[in-house]
Amino acid sequence: MAEYDYLIVGAGLYGATFAYLARQKGKKCLVIDKRNHIGGNVYCEDVDGIHVHKYGAHIFHTSNKQVWDFVNGFVPFNRYTNSPVANYHGKLYNLPFNMNTFYQMWGVTKPKQAKQKIEEQKEKSGIVNPQNLEDQAISLVGEDIYKTLVKEYTEKQWGRDCKDLPAFIIKRLPVRFTFDNNYFNDTYQGIPIGGYNKLVEGMLAGVATELGVDFFDNKEKWLALADKVVFTGKIDEFYGYKFGKLEYRTVRFETEELDVQNYQGNAVVNYTSHDEPYTRIIEHKHFEPENLAYDNEKTVISKEFSTEWKDGMEPFYPVNDEKNAGVYKKYKELADNESNVIFGGRLAEYKYYDMDDVIEKVMKDAENYNI
Ligand code: FAD
Repeated sequence: MAEYDYLIVGAGLYGATFAYLARQKGKKCLVIDKRNHIGGNVYCEDVDGIHVHKYGAHIFHTSNKQVWDFVNGFVPFNRYTNSPVANYHGKLYNLPFNMNTFYQMWGVTKPKQAKQKIEEQKEKSGIVNPQNLEDQAISLVGEDIYKTLVKEYTEKQWGRDCKDLPAFIIKRLPVRFTFDNNYFNDTYQGIPIGGYNKLVEGMLAGVATELGVDFFDNKEKWLALADKVVFTGKIDEFYGYKFGKLEYRTVRFETEELDVQNYQGNAVVNYTSHDEPYTRIIEHKHFEPENLAYDNEKTVISKEFSTEWKDGMEPFYPVNDEKNAGVYKKYKELADNESNVIFGGRLAEYKYYDMDDVIEKVMKDAENYNI
């Protein structure tokens, strides 16, 4: 008999949710993480009382009531509503594209006028069979919105000209004919009061956890400790990269603390021109206006630079192309034949998951694997 029922590799949302559900069923778990903190990518660093989203801004949004009630059972969430602003050559536009944006762009005040403008521009473009991302975007929203809010921002994100990017990257560009700057359509949205660490600490309360330890540095030792393994790290690394390395896109952050109470008046400001090399500036304190540190004469901002991923960088976004899908398929075939290892989460499934999706997935896996 091994000491633990489950060894869980990774203290991110997948690992922490799994550990919580398994513990509820009376199972004994050991969670390990190579980072020196729990939470995976939702971890927040405390800088003068401000919760800094160290691995990128995280906004929780879901329409799944079960998931919403589950997370609120650990910590109450505030009603932060994501309403990003775009800055193009110093002029500001509301996002997502809505009546406020169209008023700022064209001075139109009625939905009918805005629809007419977009239709005129779509028609003028004459594009019927989009060959690339530029064609696709213009055929969806017309030239003005494309040039002001899509083109250069997308080029910074992908490091390539929009004419050299495939059309399928943007299937649709959501356009709203109401004065509504709420970015998400979901029923529930917010940030844990006190930050994400409170959420993950709640999930892992009472669970044995070892931090700063890499599974691969002593694989045999860790495997011997438990009957089953839940692996949330990189699937290609698990198999020694035998079919090659999976690729990612990543983001580099330049984070600084400033001696001002309020730097940009909003959590998220997108920079949609090439004037600035970064795509967005995040001002972390605006996620939690109820936090006492909100009134401090200090703030923390992060500039985000979209970057090609290389070894040693954080693997953030899977690359959805044929080459990587083919490599992943081979690893997945091996994974499907493992009887004692469950592969879960964004790195092990090589799949972009929002936070609510990953929690929902663990709930399903917990049932399927009968933990
Ligand atoms: P992770 O959080 O990455 O956890 C995996 C853990 O495994 C890590 O802590 C890692 O250190 C550990 N690990 C890996 N290999 C080993 C090893 N060999 N040994 C020991 N430990 C190991 N979702 C939203 O819903 N809203 C958002 O606004 C949002 N913003 C995002 C912004 C960015 C930049 C990114 C990248 C993601 C964002 N997400 C957002 C998605 C969210 O981060 C994920 O849904 C969530 O983090 C997935 O959890 P996970 O447990 O699968 O992965």
